[in-house]
Amino acid sequence: MTRLPTLEEIRRAPKVLLHDHLDGGLRSGTIVDLARDCGHTLPTYDPAELAVWFRDAADSGSLERYLETFSHTVGVMQTREALVRVAAECAEDLADDGVMYAEVRYAPEQHTSQGLSLDEVVEAVLEGFRLGSAGPDGKPRIRVGTLLTAMRHQARSMEIAELAVRYRDLGVVGFDIAGAEAGYPPTRHLDAFEYLQRENAHFTIHAGEGFGLPSIWQAIQWCGADRLGHGVRIIDDITVSDDGEAKLGRLAAYVRDKRIPLEMCPTSNLQTGAAPSIAEHPIGLLRRLYFRVTVNTDNRLMSGTSVSQEFATLVDAFGYDWDDLQWFTVNAMKSAFIPFDERLALINGVIKPGYAQMKWQA
Ligand SMILES: [Zn+2]
Repeated sequence: MTRLPTLEEIRRAPKVLLHDHLDGGLRSGTIVDLARDCGHTLPTYDPAELAVWFRDAADSGSLERYLETFSHTVGVMQTREALVRVAAECAEDLADDGVMYAEVRYAPEQHTSQGLSLDEVVEAVLEGFRLGSAGPDGKPRIRVGTLLTAMRHQARSMEIAELAVRYRDLGVVGFDIAGAEAGYPPTRHLDAFEYLQRENAHFTIHAGEGFGLPSIWQAIQWCGADRLGHGVRIIDDITVSDDGEAKLGRLAAYVRDKRIPLEMCPTSNLQTGAAPSIAEHPIGLLRRLYFRVTVNTDNRLMSGTSVSQEFATLVDAFGYDWDDLQWFTVNAMKSAFIPFDERLALINGVIKPGYAQMKWQA
């Protein structure tokens, strides 16, 4: 049997990230700096202890504690300077992890409590990504596209969708809705999705994370989502018999037939209880059945993770080799919200040669 990829090797391979929250990926030291600057109260001002506090709160199984973590990250991201810094560091951290293309999302409406306009928020984050993407020679080390998120319990989705369209040629590549699924079906925001469709714009919807098939069905068949954020509950529409044969229901078959990308976030799903363990995570079955599976981080700070770490965890649990990791990466690049010719150029010019080299060295 050939040797499996190690974390160190995975870090060097080119990777693609489609589901990462800007307010879930701050460096703990930066939170401490920014909190001191703006007078925000933190549970501890020691960066190492704070990183552990975030991880523990996310692991606690308590929704209140999980949500409290975001009150601290969002709380210190209310000025232009803070947003530029956080976005720049996000791009640097992803590039350091070997991510060559990322789509990072955040909700502009959550960053206006100290007077920034929605446009100012978007422009600050775009500036941060631009600064953080440049290497020492000035050439970009990573390409970062932005997704603008609307909160599903709020009523500003139309405004945010218009914002995404307004900035679509300046680095915003799509739209998303996030927040508690139960009680807030995506169809509440139908006008925003219909507007985006008329504008030929792309969007993904957080669906099928904690809540079941109706949420996925609505996101695809009522709202027209291009991709599903998580989508793990699609597993509820698949029956596996004792001999391992899988039978797909109509919705699962539709998702697979139409190659609808699933933005899976294994570690995050364990923390929110959407999966009991990595070994039992639906990603194993969905990969085996050739759904359009992609591997993502969700909230790097709360989950103490990175794309490389997620890959390494899956290698441990399922014995994935370089071919599997390349397959996930090509899936993600095919599913990105940038134009087809640019996706193809990255697949053929960066991903395939990169994995060929990793396999050759293994
Ligand atoms: Zn998410």
